[in-house]
Amino acid sequence: MNQPQRFAPAKVDFDLTAIRADFPILREPVRGGRLVYLDNAATTQKPETVLHALDGYYRHQNANVHRAVHDLAERATTAYESARDRIAAFLKATREEIVFTRGTTEAINLVAYSFLQPRLQPGDEILLTGMEHHSNIVPWQLVAARSGARVVPAPITDRGELDVDAWRALLSARTKLVAVVHVSNTLGTINPIAELIREAHARGIPVLVDGAQAIAHVPVDVKALDVDFYACSAHKAYGPTGFGALYAKRAHLEAMQPWHGGGDMIRTVAFEGSTWNDVPYKFEAGTPDMSGAIGFAAALDYIDSIGLDAIAAHEHRLLEEGTQRLSTIEGLRIVGTAPGKGAILSFVMDCAHPQDIGTILDQDGVAVRTGHHCTMPLMQRFGIPATVRASLAVYNGSDDLEQLERSLAKVRRLFA
Ligand code: PLP
Repeated sequence: MNQPQRFAPAKVDFDLTAIRADFPILREPVRGGRLVYLDNAATTQKPETVLHALDGYYRHQNANVHRAVHDLAERATTAYESARDRIAAFLKATREEIVFTRGTTEAINLVAYSFLQPRLQPGDEILLTGMEHHSNIVPWQLVAARSGARVVPAPITDRGELDVDAWRALLSARTKLVAVVHVSNTLGTINPIAELIREAHARGIPVLVDGAQAIAHVPVDVKALDVDFYACSAHKAYGPTGFGALYAKRAHLEAMQPWHGGGDMIRTVAFEGSTWNDVPYKFEAGTPDMSGAIGFAAALDYIDSIGLDAIAAHEHRLLEEGTQRLSTIEGLRIVGTAPGKGAILSFVMDCAHPQDIGTILDQDGVAVRTGHHCTMPLMQRFGIPATVRASLAVYNGSDDLEQLERSLAKVRRLFA
């Protein structure tokens, strides 16, 4: 079954051994053997440099930011605000346009409540796609329900691509926002966001892009895209959990009212009324996650130290290899076959439920995700309750795919 010679060797300038050495958790034995971590779309592992930045923050810099004059507070503020510069540079934004959030989910909720809800009238529409993560569906449903507006999903083809013609036909004078995932966490599909943004803007409709699965895999230039809002999470890009960012055009941020109230987001407070801080601080109430910001910046440094192009090429080669390996397993069907897709392999097998497949794989130390992947409408579209999802990252290699193939052959032997 295993024919590793079928596959081209990794590029010589991509030193997988060195990259793996950067991730201490990859040396952690699981089920008595080597960890084969293929659950990267859920969360990525963290390199030593990120762990060092998090540890170093609490050892050498910890104090509350923006408020005190003492040395540590200055160190914390400088490190925290430098992280904003770093994240802005990575997305090709300016620092005033980067709002720190707890992640993609909170970023989308911020736009839903602060930007969209005040603009919604009964009968208005929010145009989504059928492949959205629940985080890019439910916030819009919540604000739509308060305003008498409604959420409209654009259809998906059998290969798991957005039907762009159908999407275009759904744009109308009622559409108040387009929200679309950049890279689908379930299918790997990379949506043509530049084209979608152009088309929406031609009709005066603002666009939010959910970049949770994109920033560690494809270059993002928010200025070139001219996107209105771009949401991302640190933990999907080798950074810490519970931290992320919203890019928003400055004019939008200036026009939006605050969402959460509290410390740091105010300029003055009086019982008669309060006034707001400058953007982006107007949207950052309370003591922020300083270590999260610093860890996120270290993660982006790590990505840049390898280069997104080299990462994407490596993952693409692995995706091709993985696709070939899976196609040798009888009764296995890949869900999501869009050309040029990202390194995500979702599949079902005719002999076993995804949950059982995941359990068997785990016995061999292979960590995959099973279930609906927070995309229940997409599961409904494909008429399946769940898939097994193997999602790849910079530290994966042919040996991981070989083990996946071996373990799936075992599933077949056990269940078929
Ligand atoms: N959007 C997509 C496409 C995702 O894959 C995820 C996480 O799985 C999210 C949004 C939510 O990200 P977070 O939980 O970090 O807010």
